[in-house]
Amino acid sequence: MAQQRRMGGQPMFILSEDSQRTQGRDAQSSNIMAGKAVAESVRTTLGPRGMDKMLVDSGGDVVITNDGATILNKMDIEHPAAQMIVEVADSQEEEVGDGTTTAAVIAGNLLGEAEDLIEQDVHATTIVEGYHEAAEIALDAIAEAINEADVDDEILSQVAESSMTGKGTGGLTAKSLAETVVEAIHHVETDDGVARDNVTVHTQIGASSNATELVPGIVVDEEPAHEAMPAEVEDASLAILDVELGVRTGDVDAEYAIDSIDQLNAAIDAEEGELQGYAETIVDSGADVVFTTDDVDDRVATALANEGVLVFENLGDSDARQVASATGARRVGALEDLEDEDFGSADRIHTETYGDDDLAFVEGGAAAETVTVFVRGGTEHVVDELERAIEDALDVVATALESGEVVPGAGATEIAIADKIRQEAAGIEGRKQLAVTSFADAIDVVPRTLAANTGQDPIDALVDLRAANESEGRAGLITSGDEVTIDDPFEHGVVDPADVKREAIESATEAATMIVRIDDVIAAE
Ligand code: ADP
Ligand code: MG
Repeated sequence: MAQQRRMGGQPMFILSEDSQRTQGRDAQSSNIMAGKAVAESVRTTLGPRGMDKMLVDSGGDVVITNDGATILNKMDIEHPAAQMIVEVADSQEEEVGDGTTTAAVIAGNLLGEAEDLIEQDVHATTIVEGYHEAAEIALDAIAEAINEADVDDEILSQVAESSMTGKGTGGLTAKSLAETVVEAIHHVETDDGVARDNVTVHTQIGASSNATELVPGIVVDEEPAHEAMPAEVEDASLAILDVELGVRTGDVDAEYAIDSIDQLNAAIDAEEGELQGYAETIVDSGADVVFTTDDVDDRVATALANEGVLVFENLGDSDARQVASATGARRVGALEDLEDEDFGSADRIHTETYGDDDLAFVEGGAAAETVTVFVRGGTEHVVDELERAIEDALDVVATALESGEVVPGAGATEIAIADKIRQEAAGIEGRKQLAVTSFADAIDVVPRTLAANTGQDPIDALVDLRAANESEGRAGLITSGDEVTIDDPFEHGVVDPADVKREAIESATEAATMIVRIDDVIAAE
């Protein structure tokens, strides 16, 4: 529908004929509906009893997950307002690594509450102001909920376990995985904080998740260039080459006219000599292990194998970078440039075969800052979901260690937030008060959803939780094994980093208020 304005009697077209325009209430409610629908779609995955989703893409690839950000990103969402909820989950993932479902669910409910307010003739700007004020109160409530005890390894391990519950990790496994995660984060702790990027996760199908372990170094998908090479080298001195160890082909195709046997033999000798030269240069340099991003001729590989040198060929660029940063080696572009300073070192380099896969472990390198969580699991879907769970757990443990601030999980912090907002709302005048209280109602959806997902009546649970929060000060809906009880989450080790809660409130408020303020949608064809 083209928009028309009249100017001096002449119709003036300011939009192309094909553009779509929705205005006023229609625009608001269509945006709100889309945003709500997206948030609603992840609701059932929240918490320890949250269900998983199976997502099948157009190519038939299947992902089974409980992770909010992953689900929303795989859903191929087109509506621009709905897309903003996906962004809430994305920014949550990026900033703190966990709490993506929580953030999306809160954002959706802030929109739902806004819809009711609009129907009661509360103006969008009043809603926006009220939401921002309520968010400030929420941040104060989070600050008050922070655990006074020092965040020690036990608490860090609880943070890890709380973030992994419901993600395909059960019972004993969860505990040992949590400890592995804490150990990994401690390993990359520096004076300037946690170098989270130095922890990588490598998945390998084939054993149960119990076999997951911490490798003090890196793991790359590589096999030795020759089967006679050693499977293990200790105190390795290693070089990384971006060099082809084969007969130089040159830039132009050269053709040699060979007209005698002598000439042919001479050519072959020259080639052999060149290859032998490579092997000798490497052996003379003192390298025990060579990683190269290019091909290695079989004859060079054989010669090096005879000398006990371990060679990996056709290394990917990111693997080469990883090996370089783990061992302190410098990549070299020409063999003749290889100097002592270019060498890296590692305590131990060994290769292992898992089913069809060959892996190289580079442990205790000179620049041994990196550690790898080597994740095992029975099938591809299992290891993939475990990887996502462990990545989240690594993020939350890093966050909790850096800030030293954790709050009770299991809905207890949300109950305290909603409670504080309602108390302070009493002092806020006019219609804005309605918006502030609505914010509290939207926060209630977290404990309500946790209850619903454990098969409880959400209203009863909410009433009980509020009462327990009032009388005992800290109350969450604890899921442990088959039991669901209302108790102090700290007593049960259900803890989340304060930053996860803060970020969820902030990003959800931002997206919801942005959507509410829109009253005109102009879409080009
Ligand atoms: P998100 O994507 O928001 O992190 P999760 O599915 O990971 O969603 O659920 C997180 C919620 O589950 C948090 O509120 C956390 O406190 C809660 N939680 C974790 N473990 C337990 C438990 N044992 N009992 C009750 N709630 C728990
Ligand atoms: Mg989580």
